[in-house]
Amino acid sequence: MEKSAIIQKSLALGFSQCGFARCEPLEELRPFYHDFVTGKRFATLQYLERYAAERIHPELLLPGAKTVIGVTMNYVPANLIPGEDNFVISRYAYGQDYHTIIRSRLEKLVEFMQGGSGEFGARIFVDSGPMLEKAWAQRCGLGWQGKNTLVIHQQNGSFFFVGMILTDLEFEPDPPGKDHCGDCEKCVKACPAGALETPYQLNIPRCISYLTIEKKIEIPDELKEKLNDRIYGCDICQEVCPYNRHPQPHDLQEFLPSAELLKMRKADWLSLTEAEFTRLFTGSPVARVGYQRFMKNINACNGQGGG
Ligand code: SF4
Ligand code: SF4
Repeated sequence: MEKSAIIQKSLALGFSQCGFARCEPLEELRPFYHDFVTGKRFATLQYLERYAAERIHPELLLPGAKTVIGVTMNYVPANLIPGEDNFVISRYAYGQDYHTIIRSRLEKLVEFMQGGSGEFGARIFVDSGPMLEKAWAQRCGLGWQGKNTLVIHQQNGSFFFVGMILTDLEFEPDPPGKDHCGDCEKCVKACPAGALETPYQLNIPRCISYLTIEKKIEIPDELKEKLNDRIYGCDICQEVCPYNRHPQPHDLQEFLPSAELLKMRKADWLSLTEAEFTRLFTGSPVARVGYQRFMKNINACNGQGGG
């Protein structure tokens, strides 16, 4: 099957970009990953230290793997949740959980490829399994890993999800993404928590996104003052990035905020009941943090302890 047919089908399935990389060991990341694990820089995200060999050698995840196909899907809607008199939820969590939505579309892409290539080996990864997805996105030419550690594309910015198909089919690789951060340091300077003091490396225990999403983490008092009304996720280092000035809005119903979520204001959040939380967030990534913890985030933002 031609690459161009796969790219066209991916766009028809709602993906924003599709790129190809040769499946080879990520040798250049071995020292970084080694330091990351031995320095326990994964904080409480212990899964990041498991399957170390597979992270560097993706061919261990699929016998005979030859190609990584990477896709992105923009998730910023044309209308953001109003910021005035409001707390902030990360844009990726406005709608339904992306894992199942992206996976099911990637399954359709694999089915389409089977129509043209017959049976072949393939594994799908959506923020799951030991694939270093940001590194692969760069290798697939979908952007570069910026100083805020996220994958950025010159036209698409960084408000997108990433998914991967690892396959034993062989395709011509695309050129990898080049770094276009240059002298810019906007994200480093804007991060309220000092989590990007070393550009290109996230200090996970200081990141507001980690602190408000990981259920079992207590937000240190020192960082409660720096939450900037963030009650789930953060986005500040993306909002300031010049490549996100003109995000390409999507029209995927699944990622749009509900009418009820659009109407919420600070007073509504502060008096949120568990039943309302369940109604607002069933099927959303926010559900995983749970009502009790979500209210702690709200109270921490409101200067009432919590966290
Ligand atoms: S998500 Fe927020 S806290 Fe984390 S690095 Fe970006 S700006 Fe800093
Ligand atoms: S804000 Fe600037 S330095 Fe940070 S990721 Fe964007 S371009 Fe790179």
